[in-house]
Order: sequence, then C-alpha cells, then structure tokens
Amino acid sequence: MKLVLLGAPGAGKGTQATKIAETLNIPHISTGDIFRKNLKEGTPVGLKAKAYIDKGQLVPDEVTNEIVELRLKEDDCKNGYLLDGFPRNIGQAEALEKMDAPDKVINLDVDLKALADRLTGRRVCAKCGESYHISTKKDNVCTRCGGELIQRADDTLETVNKRLTVYEQSTAPLIEYYEKKGKLVHIDGMKSIDGVFAEIEKALR
Ligand code: AMP
Repeated sequence: MKLVLLGAPGAGKGTQATKIAETLNIPHISTGDIFRKNLKEGTPVGLKAKAYIDKGQLVPDEVTNEIVELRLKEDDCKNGYLLDGFPRNIGQAEALEKMDAPDKVINLDVDLKALADRLTGRRVCAKCGESYHISTKKDNVCTRCGGELIQRADDTLETVNKRLTVYEQSTAPLIEYYEKKGKLVHIDGMKSIDGVFAEIEKALR
C-alpha cells in the first residue's frame, strides 16, 4: 500500500507513522528525519536545508522532491511506502503523482490551537528519535533505548509559530487536493495515541 500521512506539525504524524509502517511492513519515509540526518552528517543536502529548517520554512521543492524520488526507487519500497511530512505543498503533491502516486492519504485532524503547546513541550530521544511530552515525561531518559531526551532546535516558540503559518498557507490546501481525487481519509487526531491508531487501522481495512 502506498500511503501519505498529512497533518500539521505536532499532529502526531511521526508517532502514528512508526506504528502504521510496522503493521503494514512498509518503509516509513520522513523527509524531516532525512533532512535532520543530513544536517548531522554535514552533507551538501544538509547544508542547503539548514537555513530553511532553522527558520521554520520549507526546503525548496527541487531539493526535497529529488530526495523523495531517489528514496522511492530503493528496493524496500516495492511493497509500498508511508510518506510522513511529504508532500507539504501542491507542487510536491504533483511531483509525487508523477513519481509514484499514493493509494490513500490519511489526514490527522487536530485543533491547531493545541499544537503550539504540543510542539514546544515535545522532547525527542537524541539516539532513536522516540518522541515524548514534558507533561507526561518527568525525566530526560528515553524509555525505549536509554538515550538522552533533547528539544529539537525548531521546536522553540518562535519557529513553531512560523511552521504553523507555513502549514496553513502551503500544506492545508492538500486536504482539498486529495479530497477531490477521492483519496483522503479523515482521522480524529485529538484522541489518545492508541485511539488514533485504531481509527487508522479501521480506515485502512
Ligand atoms: P518535520 O520533522 O516533518 O516537522 O520537518 C522539519 C523541517 O524539515 C520542516 O520545518 C522543513 O523545514 C523541513 N521539511 C521537512 N519535510 C519537508 C518537505 N516535504 N518540504 C520542504 N521542507 C520540508
């Protein structure tokens, strides 16, 4: 199955994507994770992306589309894929139609007002990427692997506000784009992690 997971920053895409990819045995492809890995390794892609990520802006389409196109050609995508954080605008969605169009698009519906709190309180494991929230996680040690929990550089209030504006202007129009194609599934993203996942599983059956 070829899937796209849509939703505002902080809607829970990463958490749900990990669960969906495991269940369906398809690769979880997060453009944000790919950029962060390139940044850490200091590659040319990482250097190009850094200025945009730091400002909460989108990395230019020509850079992002090429990364996704190459990734979708890898062997593990033969059974499908789960894209998380791509496409982020109509231009990217049109590029994806030409590369390898998705079968379904899951939109995590969330209250935009709740997101700034979710994002600024988010802490992620520096080692395995697992995500937590300061309201429920009182120490800074990853429960899964023991790694240290850190705040992503773009989860500060100023950058979060920019990312939410970019979402509303560039990414939210994709809801209508995929609705018109008859591919969109709406999921209530305000439920618990397991509650959201149960809804997704039902919609994919
Ligand atoms: P994320 O982890 O998905 O929130 O992405 C973090 C940052 O990486 C975003 O704020 C953008 O700067 C960049 N990024 C991730 N995915 C894309 C994309 N599809 N198009 C452009 N920029 C992206």
